[in-house]
Amino acid sequence: MRLDYATTSRIRRLAKAALAGSLALLLMAAAVGSARQVSVLKAKNADEILHVVSRLRGLDVKRAVKSGSKSHDEIEQSVIADLNENTTPAEFAATAKTLTKLGLIDKGFALREYVIKLLREQVAGFYDTKTQTFYLASWIPFAEQEPVIAHELTHALQDQHFDLRRFEKWPKGDSDAELAVHALIEGEATVLMFEYTVGGGKPIDLSRIGSLTDLLLSQSDAGDATRFPVMAGAPAVLRENLQFPYVYGVGFVQGVIKEKSWKSLDSCYEDLPQSTEQIIHPDRYLARDKPIKIEIPDLGPALGSRWKRADYDVNGEFGYTVLLGQFVEKQRAKRAAAGWGGDRYALYEDAQAGRLLLTQFTSWDTVKDAEEFFEAYKERTAKRYHVAAPSAESGHKITIDTEEGAVLIELRGQDVVAIEGAENRDQLSKLAALVWQASKKP
Ligand SMILES: [Zn+2]
Repeated sequence: MRLDYATTSRIRRLAKAALAGSLALLLMAAAVGSARQVSVLKAKNADEILHVVSRLRGLDVKRAVKSGSKSHDEIEQSVIADLNENTTPAEFAATAKTLTKLGLIDKGFALREYVIKLLREQVAGFYDTKTQTFYLASWIPFAEQEPVIAHELTHALQDQHFDLRRFEKWPKGDSDAELAVHALIEGEATVLMFEYTVGGGKPIDLSRIGSLTDLLLSQSDAGDATRFPVMAGAPAVLRENLQFPYVYGVGFVQGVIKEKSWKSLDSCYEDLPQSTEQIIHPDRYLARDKPIKIEIPDLGPALGSRWKRADYDVNGEFGYTVLLGQFVEKQRAKRAAAGWGGDRYALYEDAQAGRLLLTQFTSWDTVKDAEEFFEAYKERTAKRYHVAAPSAESGHKITIDTEEGAVLIELRGQDVVAIEGAENRDQLSKLAALVWQASKKP
């Protein structure tokens, strides 16, 4: 696993985590904005940096860490090798289909190619758990190297103490939980990088500074389109997923540590965060608000033999923030996705006819949370499709005929079901009856 390539709930397994170049710069900018010590940092070698990071974090250096440098071309080769190893072409295609059906990328968008270009541009460095070596991108200007090295060496320390390789082959079907673990790993390395840079090697009281997540969010629009054109031109879903582990990971780490020491973070590697909800709201992690596990029954028999299940996964609170935010006002999307209790989606494809059918079962903390999501999802759906005149609506159920088939959105108590792309109303009600039989395990 190479940390510092993005792993995401939807773009999951595209590659494993990357210290996004523009994000590293954002953090640098933030650091310079809140302290002036950056300019007085003296150039240190990697071994010195490792010992400073080890002292700040309170984790011993168990063994020296090898280092190397990689050009854009070499990073691209690493990214491609990683993709080939971790994501089959079928999985890539499935992700692209789900993103297309959700209206997050255009039909025919070359997802794999774009991700390679994006990571080639964005990867500032990475730590390779296989060879236990960290690499720095050769194009990073001298002044920006030290924070990136501090970040990558934090990954080396994490690996020496908590074994990062165990997160490599994540079981399929719950990428929301996988994204949460990556946010822990990246959040920790990014906060330490911040502490290293701003504190000039001295500890910072994280409870006395403002939210680092808010700091990053407030600056994340200020991306440098000249320096990072691929990132600037990326569909929002790619950009936001790439940034999630860093932007929300820092807030999670800050929220778990509070006024305590870094030591309090160690237990997170035993008792892993289980959802992006827990990352976005660290108090939910501390209160052990566990996600509800949902399974949708096999819809194959009801659909017929031409249809195959192409994708089966969890969107999570963050996934819903992004997919609603594509069509409705951002703050509203955020509020509607909060109160998430659990979800599951299943995407089916009739390859012969070129049809996609998406079913979602979502469960919310309260009836009010479910109603809020129901209303936001209705608005999103009306904007997602061109022909969207609702033809049957009650307060809790809406049926729409669209240019991509029949759509149903239905609220029952704390649960909301959405089905998009049925061939006709008859099929839609048969499918709804089945999806409502989904199992829920607390
Ligand atoms: Zn990292």
